Amino acid sequence: MDLLNTLVEKGLRRELPTREEALAVLATSDDELLDVVAAAGRVRRKWFGRRVKLNYLVNLKSGLCPEDCSYCSQRLGSETGILKYTWLKPEQAAEAAAAGVAGGAKRVCLVASGRGPTDRDVDRVSKTIEAIKEQNADVEVCACLGLLSDGQAERLRDAGVYAYSNNLNTSEATYADITTTHTYADRVDTVRKTQEAGMSACSGLISGMGETDEDLVDVVFSLRELNVDSVPVNFLIPFEGTPLAKEWNLTPQRALRILAMVRFVHPDVEVRLAGGREIHLRSLQPLALHLANSIFLGDYLTSEGQEGKADLAMIADAGFEVEDMGTTTLPAHRSEAAGCGGGSCGPCGDGDGQPAAQAGPDEARTDLVAVRRRGAGTDLPPNA
Ligand code: SF4
Repeated sequence: MDLLNTLVEKGLRRELPTREEALAVLATSDDELLDVVAAAGRVRRKWFGRRVKLNYLVNLKSGLCPEDCSYCSQRLGSETGILKYTWLKPEQAAEAAAAGVAGGAKRVCLVASGRGPTDRDVDRVSKTIEAIKEQNADVEVCACLGLLSDGQAERLRDAGVYAYSNNLNTSEATYADITTTHTYADRVDTVRKTQEAGMSACSGLISGMGETDEDLVDVVFSLRELNVDSVPVNFLIPFEGTPLAKEWNLTPQRALRILAMVRFVHPDVEVRLAGGREIHLRSLQPLALHLANSIFLGDYLTSEGQEGKADLAMIADAGFEVEDMGTTTLPAHRSEAAGCGGGSCGPCGDGDGQPAAQAGPDEARTDLVAVRRRGAGTDLPPNA
């Protein structure tokens, strides 16, 4: 297929595909799926070999958010029965983080619900980082605390934050349909503040919210323009009790095409398979490792993922290897420029997954979304 040959050549040269080429990837048929995965897999292996970076989410503060992001179980007015708690103590967060590191995670993503941190919150997170680093000095810390005010990025950097995550989520044109309490420009501003402070920028998307192919290509191209170091690709988890509860638009094949398109547009950037992989990709999850070079280990913020042990077995069975602490994630030309080992964080709020093909729009699949009951903020051990 000429399209795929062209995209592989461009990917190997780190050249940007055209919008038409990116759209054409999304329009390929199921018959062409394995060719698409094989082509994008060549680009993935060129820049990341067969390594898979593991990241571990710690939800520092859960629920009770004043913002109204439609996809989020922690949003204002959410009726999802999630755990709600205010800031974890530093030692509680460090204990949760240690479980992830013991499972093989090299990055810990510290997430808090809310519009953005207060200066006092930045102090709290700084103490938490200290506690985590006391136990695991080499772990990469990513923070995902919402929109940053002036000076906060620098304070977080000085506290030991390596990367900051703030997803664009969807295209600028449709952003107001998803969230009304802040804007796409607010999120772009936080990504820029992250980069100006010298931290590694992590920003990605949520697919399956009813967006068009053009919307997906728009947000993925915007992220390339912003030159982020990592791109988490989430597949909507339609939580009961949120406005998007009945949006079951993805098939495993569609999810793979989206990941392939992201890989072609971001050949040498950490592409992270994020929330929703279990429920949307289901038995095709291992194929996604040929496209993404990074995954979350174990559970998500407010929903349960597959067991960490199952993640590790999947990686080994598919012929990939877990990236160790001493390996820099990003290729040298990027890590030197960004001062970064690559990586990313989860979305603030939700990016946990969901399933697919059998259900159509307007049909809820409560059987597939397990609200998180274990780990941080509970007496039950985390799932890693
Ligand atoms: S995504 Fe973040 S800002 Fe939006 S409602 Fe959820 S916790 Fe709040």
